[in-house]
Order: sequence, then structure tokens, then C-alpha cells
Amino acid sequence: MAILNVLKYPDENLHIVAEQVKEVDEEIKTLISDMFDTMYELNGVGLAATQVDRHVRVVVIDVSEERNQPQVFINPKIIASEGEIEGEEGCLSVPGIYDKVTRAERITVSAWDENGEIFNLETDGLLAKCIQHEIDHLNGKVFVEYLSRLKQNRIKSKLLKQAKKEFA
Ligand SMILES: [Zn+2]
Repeated sequence: MAILNVLKYPDENLHIVAEQVKEVDEEIKTLISDMFDTMYELNGVGLAATQVDRHVRVVVIDVSEERNQPQVFINPKIIASEGEIEGEEGCLSVPGIYDKVTRAERITVSAWDENGEIFNLETDGLLAKCIQHEIDHLNGKVFVEYLSRLKQNRIKSKLLKQAKKEFA
């Protein structure tokens, strides 16, 4: 069990674009297992490798109430989307901040599972929202960047203040 350090906005490394995984080797498997440990420990519903400062296209998600349905998405790609829906989002990299973001309502995602097998999944609701949020992380985008400049600046200074307190 390993709890990884989660980068906090506005850390510059959150803007690095992650690279495709070429093969699910031991290193990737360890990363996946550590990412689940970290996500469950911090009570998140999803975590992208970018957030733990590893810039490969790996996402872990569990949207179940019981926290017993881990899902892995390697090299995820949205191949179809439909509709629009506005919903509140939060992020382990932006602690304490929640705001509304508009996303596709229904998506089909194509990805590899933890064994490197390709699969397609059509979904909506919380899972669809979460997959889109995590793929954004892999592309170097944090959800607050959908908000107004003014809001982003407020969030930035709030989080920088918090970080200073933690180190004081
Ligand atoms: Zn996030």
C-alpha cells in the first residue's frame, strides 16, 4: 500500500500532457495499485496519473457508494458523445473547491483495461462526468480552467494561502 502525493492547483506539472502507455508492465501495474490506494484514502471518485506527477495516460475511478467497483482506463479516448449537462465538480488537486461545469451527457469511451485489453464503454451520469474530468487531467487541464478568469484567480490565491499555512 502506498499513498502518493497529489499535486495541488496551481502546480505547473498539472499542465503536462501525459504520454500514451505502450505496454501494461509491472511499473504501470504498481502505479495503478498505488493510485487506487491514494484515491480511496482521500475519498476521491477518480484520479489521473497526472495528479500524482506521473505523466502517462492512466486513470482510476470508483463511482460506487460502497467503494468496491474499481475501474481502470488506460489510454482512454472518447469516441462518441451526446447531449450537454451541467453538474458540480470537485477535484483532489483543488481541495475544498466545487463549481459547475458543462460536459457531454452521454459518452462512449474506448480504453485498455489493467491487462492491456481494449474495451468500449457507453455511459452517462457520474461515471461519464468523471471520465471526462480525468481525461482533461491527462491533457493538462484542471476543471477550474472552465471557470471565469476572476474565479480562477480567487481559487489560485486561496489555495496558495492554504499551502503556505501547511508549510508554516
Ligand atoms: Zn480532478
